[in-house]
Amino acid sequence: MAARDGDGWIECRCGSRHWGLHGAAGLLLTRSGEILLQLRAPWVHNGGTWGIPGGARDSHESWHEAAIREAIEEIGISGEMIDLESALQFSDDHGDWRYETIIAHALDHFTIGESNHETVEANWFEMGKIEELPLHVSFAKAWPDIKALIESSQ
Ligand SMILES: [Zn+2]
Repeated sequence: MAARDGDGWIECRCGSRHWGLHGAAGLLLTRSGEILLQLRAPWVHNGGTWGIPGGARDSHESWHEAAIREAIEEIGISGEMIDLESALQFSDDHGDWRYETIIAHALDHFTIGESNHETVEANWFEMGKIEELPLHVSFAKAWPDIKALIESSQ
């Protein structure tokens, strides 16, 4: 039960290695037809690609808490700027490991904050144009399902 006790790699039955001993979570923010993506720094895993802020969950955290903490760290958002009441959740469950994407609406006063060293920039993109970007491989795989989930909730 300590901060950062989720840091570490899991050898997953899917044949891949994943970051996060207790799984990982990411935050996907939406606003009228757009989503907020983060360009990952060149030196991080899958660097130079667009994805969502996220990372390993600590053992004491909920998926929501982990996703928001990572977004605060990586792109400088504030928890008061997002609507968690209506948040959706997309699960990518591998059995040995899972990635939970928390999909939440950015409130009117939302602003992108200061990025940390893991992030080159964060930006809003139209949902219809996401496939044109060089995407993080895992996010690219999940995006069609996440998009369908967002559209079905509108
Ligand atoms: Zn896996």
